[in-house]
Amino acid sequence: MRIGHGYDLHRLEPVAPAGAGRPFVLGGVSFDHDRGPVGHSDGDALLHAVTDALLGALGEDDIGQLFPDDHPDWDGASSAIFLQEAVERVKRAGYRIANLDATVILEAPKIGPRKSELRQRLSELLGIPVESVNLKGKTHEKVDAVGEGRAVEVHVVTLLVAVGRTD
Ligand code: MG
Repeated sequence: MRIGHGYDLHRLEPVAPAGAGRPFVLGGVSFDHDRGPVGHSDGDALLHAVTDALLGALGEDDIGQLFPDDHPDWDGASSAIFLQEAVERVKRAGYRIANLDATVILEAPKIGPRKSELRQRLSELLGIPVESVNLKGKTHEKVDAVGEGRAVEVHVVTLLVAVGRTD
């Protein structure tokens, strides 16, 4: 078995042209919000943290090394591309994803009402049952940048199990 941890944070700014924010997307799901992540790709902090958790469990290069944020191919790219590469690497290495647990820290928009949709989307991207994907939404109690709605922060832990193992 191998355990992996992923973390990401993106600054949130008014959506362009009012600011540098991209449309708000999290876990591959679009949200209607006046602020959005600043990033070279679509800025999906949840998919970035999930990608890094999988790559970390494998002990491979991280998302920034595989998909440099100055490469034109990744300008505005869907972060599902990054996650798909990580999922492929898990398979190639002879592992399967046993489960994944994510914590999203965000003041707004609220993810609670769309939690089942987010879990479903993650399970599709990961190719594992929705019961194996957990997601928790937290606020930052209005303190610091995250609490003031100026950033989104995500922590992810995942467990990989060698294919064929049943224990
Ligand atoms: Mg990121």
